[in-house]
This record gives sequence, C-alpha cells and structure tokens, in this order.
Amino acid sequence: MKVIANWKMHGFKDDYLHWYKNLSKTADENLFDDLGIAPPFTLLDECKIHQSKIKLGAQNISHLPEGPVTGEISAAMIKNSGADFVILGHSERRELHTETEEAIKSKILEASNHNIHPVLCIGEPKEIYVAKKTEDFLYSQLQGSLNDLNNINLSIAYEPIWAIGTGDVAKPSDINKIHSIIKEICSREFDVKLENIIYGGSVNDQNSKEIFEQEHVNGALIGGASLDGHSFGRIANNFFEIHNG
Ligand code: PEP
Repeated sequence: MKVIANWKMHGFKDDYLHWYKNLSKTADENLFDDLGIAPPFTLLDECKIHQSKIKLGAQNISHLPEGPVTGEISAAMIKNSGADFVILGHSERRELHTETEEAIKSKILEASNHNIHPVLCIGEPKEIYVAKKTEDFLYSQLQGSLNDLNNINLSIAYEPIWAIGTGDVAKPSDINKIHSIIKEICSREFDVKLENIIYGGSVNDQNSKEIFEQEHVNGALIGGASLDGHSFGRIANNFFEIHNG
C-alpha cells in the first residue's frame, strides 16, 4: 500500500461504511489496491467485513509476542483481525509513550514474523531541521531500529515532526532529496528490502500532486485529511493520475 489513511484515535463503527462510500464515489475502486487504512484497533474487524480491496493496518503492536501485558495487542492478534500492515514508530508514539528504537526494532521483527508489513515512521523535530542536522538524525533513527535485522521487507514513512498536523508541509524537492538519502542508507547499511518510501506531514488534496510527482516519493501517510472519504479520495486520485495515468 502506498497511500495510507492513519485515523489515529478517531472513528466509531458507523463511520467506516460512510467513509468508504464517500471514497468510492470520489475515486476509482479498481485502483484501491494501492490504498491502505489504519483505523483504531476497535475498527479492524469492521473494516475487514465491509471490503477487502484497501489494505488494512494497525497503528501499533506490542513488542512482545504474548503474555501478561495488560492493554497491549500483539502482531498475531492484528493478523487474526485481518491486518496486512502496521505503522510502527510514529512520532506521536515515540513522544507520548516514550517508545525506544530497541522496542521499535522488536516490533518490526514481531510484525515480520507474522507476515505483517511494517511501515516504519522516522522524522526529525523542528530544532534538528533548523540546525540542518536532519540527515544525521534520520541515520541514527534507522541505525537504532534496523541494525542487526536480517532479510526484512518493509516500507518507510518519512514524517518530519514539525509537519505533522501543522499545515506546514515540507518542500517537495526537500522530501525527494531526503527520500533518496534514506534509500541510499538502507541499501548501504542494512539487510532490508525497502518496498516503498512514503511521505507524511500535512498532506492534503491541494499539495499532494506535487509531492507524488517527486521521483523518490512512492506514496503518502495521511492523518487529518484522511478522515473524510471524499478528501482521501481526491488525494488518491492525484496519486492514480501520476502512477496509473
Ligand atoms: C500522521 O500523523 O501520520 C500525519 C501525517 O498526520 P497529518 O497528515 O495530519 O499531518
């Protein structure tokens, strides 16, 4: 999946069908294979029951396989609910739940062991961006969560923290450059197969076309603008226009 809706902590049972209907009115259902949705855990089953074209994902998993870990959900459990992928290391989880690189690495392994595609989020805070130290920062995030892993298939979402939910989208040419650096680091340093590298941070139907046009951008992770089916559909259409047109 290349264009992913991250619903974060939004959505109730009835919302999904309504969202899907609006999405289908706006975008061509035949192209939905490239789309993904990561609803809250409580809606995974609902999404699975009502359609199978859009890939289904969770927003997190436990770093442990099972056991006495109250409140956690395992890779096997989301697989059992029909998940195809999982978003890992989102900056909101790193900040609010002090998620470490070590824990993220274990989660990547857990996901991979259960045949769930990991979408690893990395991205720098504003002060690092201003100090022009983005490359070093991303390198150390990648080292922390990919070092020592073997033969892992994954996607990476580059999400500058200062762009998430702020309306302050990164410049498309800068995104392109960072993506090519990330690709280069991954192929040089780690035993991973990077399936897609996608951008996240205030993507909407107005700015997505120019972002999708960049050579090293394979898609997008979308928060706020994905909650409305029509809006997500317009972003998907911008993607389809460039990649299927
Ligand atoms: C996100 O949280 O992954 C995200 C990209 O959010 P938004 O699109 O709202 O900036």
